[in-house]
Amino acid sequence: MARKPFVAGNWKMNTSQAEGVALAGALVKLVGSLEGVDVAVCPPFVYLPAVKAALAGSRIALGAQNLFYESNGAFTGEISGSMLKDIGARYVILGHSERRHVLGESDEVISRKVVKALADGLDVIFCVGELLAERQGGQTLEVVTRQVKVGLEGVAKAAMAHVTVAYEPVWAIGTGVTASPAQAQEVHAMVRGLLGKQYGPEVARHTRIQYGGSVKASNAAELLGQPDIDGALVGGASLKADEFAAIAKAGIQ
Ligand code: PEP
Repeated sequence: MARKPFVAGNWKMNTSQAEGVALAGALVKLVGSLEGVDVAVCPPFVYLPAVKAALAGSRIALGAQNLFYESNGAFTGEISGSMLKDIGARYVILGHSERRHVLGESDEVISRKVVKALADGLDVIFCVGELLAERQGGQTLEVVTRQVKVGLEGVAKAAMAHVTVAYEPVWAIGTGVTASPAQAQEVHAMVRGLLGKQYGPEVARHTRIQYGGSVKASNAAELLGQPDIDGALVGGASLKADEFAAIAKAGIQ
């Protein structure tokens, strides 16, 4: 069975409520009924309900950018998976490089979040990727292997149907520098091999692996045309409706 491509927009800490609603509305018009590709947007927490309303009736799903691994209680400032489910989010991005490297999240913390998100009924976009120094030091495969192994620890085989992996080389995020299709394909194939070792060939074959890192309308088709690249996690370009719509359409090939 072919994997259905999946293109998700990570809005990060951007937009006002009015801008987010307008962006969602524009996307509904451009790609709201697109078939052959799954599309999601991940606005900041506070705009999730307003964006959800703007997406109503379309095929575009809603995602969040983070959660905490407890259900409720004295965790000031945190948001739980059940809260995200409650307001109609389907996806959550976990392990994003900005959470790892700006906010200091470890593989172990990310793993707890992944396990809890799945238990709460969310679909997870689980991000991995090496720093520039790690790539230059020839450690890409080692780093990504550790992130996948530790990050997915405790995730049962059946739950993998609800996990998308996003390979996002940190040096390509927000920099305008994109991994070449061959560089990305190499790591994607390696990640698929790891999933095969950890979960068996069925899971390896069915799990979608997105590429992320300066994806734009102009480079999407070539990247998404690689055999092990099943879509994109898009940052900057997801804030422009035309750009993001073109990337979503490039997913259908
Ligand atoms: C991201 O934040 O997931 C990302 C890939 O950002 P950008 O597309 O801006 O590089």
